Amino acid sequence: MSSRIILIGPPGAGKGTQAARLSEALGIPAISTGDIFRANVKGETELGKLAKRYMDAGEYVPDEVTNSMVADRLAQDDAAVGFLLDGYPRTSAQVDELDRILAAEDTAIEHVVELTADTDEVVARLLARAQTEGRSDDSEDVIRHRLDVYEEQTQPLTDIYRSRGLLRQVDGLGDVDDITERILSSIR
Ligand code: ADP
Repeated sequence: MSSRIILIGPPGAGKGTQAARLSEALGIPAISTGDIFRANVKGETELGKLAKRYMDAGEYVPDEVTNSMVADRLAQDDAAVGFLLDGYPRTSAQVDELDRILAAEDTAIEHVVELTADTDEVVARLLARAQTEGRSDDSEDVIRHRLDVYEEQTQPLTDIYRSRGLLRQVDGLGDVDDITERILSSIR
């Protein structure tokens, strides 16, 4: 079975946690643009140096940079059976690029899963994560800014995918296993 899935939702909704489980359950790679950027920051690559400025400010990395990184990643062999995108697309220009990449391969997205969680909950989770993981973009003011950017630039993408009949909304609050089950049943 091949599946091409997008996981969308505000910072702190639990996309990364669920992406790892879904990848395992479905046998497809989880591709997280945030993780790829963080690996580049850690490795001090040119891409990492560029991305870090935006990430630390809670801003999106410019579309041209993100788009070409994703195009390269999707061209790798393991993505031929399907993939789960976590954190991409986040802007309407990224939606267009993804459409173009997939159309060139004669494929398309099958499901867009929106993981929902209210603002107080996600802020609390991100502040707790700041304590344990020490991510440089998890300070309270940067968190608030990331949430504003999400609402302004990414939330509207759910309307695009709803109009294509692809949107599945899943409550991101509750037990982690239950949420995985909810997502799996939403795409069955
Ligand atoms: P979160 O969604 O929890 O904020 P991510 O790990 O998904 O965290 O992303 C961290 C940062 O990486 C974002 O704030 C942004 O700067 C950058 N980033 C990740 N994905 C994208 C994307 N698709 N477009 C632009 N920037 C991105």
